[in-house]
Amino acid sequence: MKHEKNAPNSPAAPTLAQLAAGTPPPNAFDPVAEARGLETPDKDPDLCGPEGEVYAPDPLALAGARAHPLIAGTAVHLVTFGCQMNKYDSEMVAGLLNERGAGFVEDPAEAQLLIFNTCSVRGHAEDRVYGRLGALKARKRRDPGFLIAVMGCMAQKEGEHIAKRFPFVDLIVGTRQLHEFGQLLTRVREGAKTPLVAIEEKPDVQFGETVARRESKELAYLTVTRGCNKRCTYCVVPYTRGPEVSRPVAEILSEARRLVDDGVAEIMLLGQTIDTYGYDLGRDKANLPLLLKELHDVKGLERVRFITSHPEECQADLWRTMHDLGDKVMPFIHMPAQAGSDAVLRRMARGYTRARYLEVVAEARKLCPEIEIASDWIVGFSGESDADFAQSLSLLDEVRPQSSYVFKYSVREGTPAQRLPDDVPEDIKKERHRVLSERQEQIALEKNRERIGVVERVLVQGPSKTDPGRLTGRSRTHRLVHFAGGPEWAGRFADVKITGATALSLTGERA
Ligand code: SF4
Repeated sequence: MKHEKNAPNSPAAPTLAQLAAGTPPPNAFDPVAEARGLETPDKDPDLCGPEGEVYAPDPLALAGARAHPLIAGTAVHLVTFGCQMNKYDSEMVAGLLNERGAGFVEDPAEAQLLIFNTCSVRGHAEDRVYGRLGALKARKRRDPGFLIAVMGCMAQKEGEHIAKRFPFVDLIVGTRQLHEFGQLLTRVREGAKTPLVAIEEKPDVQFGETVARRESKELAYLTVTRGCNKRCTYCVVPYTRGPEVSRPVAEILSEARRLVDDGVAEIMLLGQTIDTYGYDLGRDKANLPLLLKELHDVKGLERVRFITSHPEECQADLWRTMHDLGDKVMPFIHMPAQAGSDAVLRRMARGYTRARYLEVVAEARKLCPEIEIASDWIVGFSGESDADFAQSLSLLDEVRPQSSYVFKYSVREGTPAQRLPDDVPEDIKKERHRVLSERQEQIALEKNRERIGVVERVLVQGPSKTDPGRLTGRSRTHRLVHFAGGPEWAGRFADVKITGATALSLTGERA
C-alpha cells in the first residue's frame, strides 16, 4: 500500500463538557459553511442527488490537446453518491479525464475504470459503497487490468480502512487531491503499488483548471469554496473536506465565461457556507455580494444562484444585492434552520438562536421581498424532547419555507455528537419526520397555489421524465414547472402562465 502523505489538520472538536452544557466550541461561529445530510425522503435531484447516480454525459471521448497515452481510450463508469458538491466533483474529474482522452459508459460491465465518488454524510451511502466494492472482487480477479477508484468524502475519511478491507482497489483519492486524479491514475497505469492512497489534507486546496463536463447543457455547478470552518456537532463535513478555502474571483469568472461559451444559461455556485466566500482571501477583495455583481456582468449568463446559506453569516448587503441584481440573480436561498429549539440548536453548535433565525428571515424578506427560502430540519437529535420538536414545528409555521429537507438524525462516526446519547427512539424520529414533512407539504401547496395566474419565466430542462409530452423547467424562485411543449424548448427560456399547483410543482401553459 502506498501512501501519499497524511497530515491530518481536522478542526478541533468541542469537548464533551461543552456539548453537555450546550456550549458551542470557541470557534463554532467562525466564518463559513453548510452541509447536506442525514436521511432525506425528498428526491429533488437539484438539491440532493439520488444515491448512486451514474455520470453519463456525451459518451464519446474528447481526446483533446492534453490526451494522455495511458488514459486515452479508457472506458470510465462513474457513480456519484451524495450532494451537489459531489456532483460537481464528479463533473470536474470527468472533465479532467475527458481532456486526457477517456470516454464514459453507462454500463459498468463495459468499463475499464470504475469510479465511486462517495459520501460520508449518511451511513447508508457508505454501506452501499462497501457493498458495491465487495461485489467487484471476483471481477478484479478475472480481469486485473480493470481498475477501481474510490474518491470523495469516504476516501478522505476512511481511505486507509478501504485500502485494508478492499486491497484490490487501485486508487483512493480524498477530497483535497481530486485535481490530481489524472496524474494519480497515470501512476497506477505505470505500475505504482496499489492501492495508491492520496488523502493528504492539503491546506492549499486547488480547484483545478478543467471545466467540468456536465450532464446538463443549460445548467452548471461552479464550486466557489471547499471545506467548512463551522463545527456543527452532527456533521462530518469539516472532517472530510477540511477548513474552508475560497477560490479567487478571477478564476471563478474565467470558469463562468467558459461555461457560458459552452452554452450554459444558469450557474449554481456551491459552497458549504457560501456566505463566507472570500473571508480567507480578504473580505474587501472577495465576498459573495461582490462575486454576484461580477457574475451579473458576465455577458450571456442568464441566471445565477447559490447554496448553501448559513443563518449566522447572511448579511443585509447580500439581500440588497440579490434584489438589485434580480434580473439575473435568482431570489432563492437554501438556509437550513435544522431545529426550532434553542437548547437543540446549542447542542448542535449551530451558532444562532431561533430568534436570530427569524430575524434573518425577516430582514431577507424586507430587503428582497421576492425571495423564497428553502430549509433543512433534523428531527430526533440527541435530547430532543416533545417540547423541542414542537418548537421546530412552530418555527416551520412562522417561516413558511417554500420547501424543506427533513432528516432523521443518525450518529456519524467521528463527529462531536457521537459522544452525545442518540436517545430519541427510532419510531419517534419517524413520527416526527412524518409530521414535519406533512406540515411542510401543506405549506408548499398553499404557497404554490398563490402562484396560479402568475406568469413565470422558466428555464426549460427538457421533457418530463414521467410524461415526455410535457416539458419540465425551473422558475426564478426554483419552483418546478411543467407545461406542454416539444423537445426543441430544452435549454431555452419560456414564459409560462401558471394554471395549477401541487406541493411539489406548478403546471401551466405558454403565455
Ligand atoms: S459543519 Fe455545519 S455549517 Fe459546516 S457543512 Fe456541516 S452542517 Fe454545514
